[in-house]
Amino acid sequence: MNVQSNQTQANYIGRFAPSPTGPLHLGSLIAAVASYVDAKSKNGIWVLRMEDLDPPREPPGTADLILDQLYALGIQWDGEVLYQSSRINAYREILKQLSKEELCYPCGCTRLQIKAMGSVYNGSCRNHTVSLHKKFAIRVKTFNNLIGFNDKIQGHHQQNVRKEVGDFIVMRKDSLFAYQLAVVADDSYQKITDVIRGYDLIDSTPRQIHLQKVLGFKTPKYAHIPIILNDKGHKLSKQNFATPIEPTDGNKLIFQSLKYLGQNPPSSIERASTDEQLQWAISNWDIHAIPKLANIRENPKRM
Ligand code: GLU
Repeated sequence: MNVQSNQTQANYIGRFAPSPTGPLHLGSLIAAVASYVDAKSKNGIWVLRMEDLDPPREPPGTADLILDQLYALGIQWDGEVLYQSSRINAYREILKQLSKEELCYPCGCTRLQIKAMGSVYNGSCRNHTVSLHKKFAIRVKTFNNLIGFNDKIQGHHQQNVRKEVGDFIVMRKDSLFAYQLAVVADDSYQKITDVIRGYDLIDSTPRQIHLQKVLGFKTPKYAHIPIILNDKGHKLSKQNFATPIEPTDGNKLIFQSLKYLGQNPPSSIERASTDEQLQWAISNWDIHAIPKLANIRENPKRM
């Protein structure tokens, strides 16, 4: 499939953008299933982007492992995988653009200093130069205004980024590009029209819309799905030792994911192949059935 030429015409381009810090677990799988099925239910394109911008946190081989897990479950992406590690020059250009427009500045403040500011960065480096002998991050200037969007699941969400977050980092002190800059650069580069991801990122969205506005990029539609908490109330994550998904449990996992997403899959497809289950989901998809919640407690008995 020639995604590049299709991407200019497609009405819907969705994406899944895992960070290869660990294999997929049920929580990340649910985000993949939701964005994949939503895209395919609208005859859309669904691309995969590997957010591999933080090598110290990425065990070797994890990106390939994630691709193998998706492939084994029959969740097939369109076109080539985009690796953020191949996009550094594009991020540099964006930083240059921000700097030319005096929309960013170096900041040498430490975590401790920011904590003392009440954890909202107060912009203290905006007006004075940082010693270039010291390590510094780059922050983008924010404005004192409300940035809102209509989440397709959660409804209206808004934030005054200046007051609630402050000028935020686009390049870290260790010279790695920050997630906020890279995600905005690539959602625009890949012409993403619809972002579906976990609720834990909903508060990043106003920052991303701010960057899109100052850079002249389009804002996609957003939908944030509830995140799954383990029995201790923690988000399923590698740090919390979430069990990596096993492709041999494929149909059990897809069935569980659809249940968490409120899709009410019939028991007749519980033991069907993952392809059949995904096909059922595409034909019967109802995004409005997804619980309008920040999180859901994992409940193996109910599943
Ligand atoms: N890479 C992020 C993660 O794995 C997701 C980014 C996004 O969907 O915007 O949590």
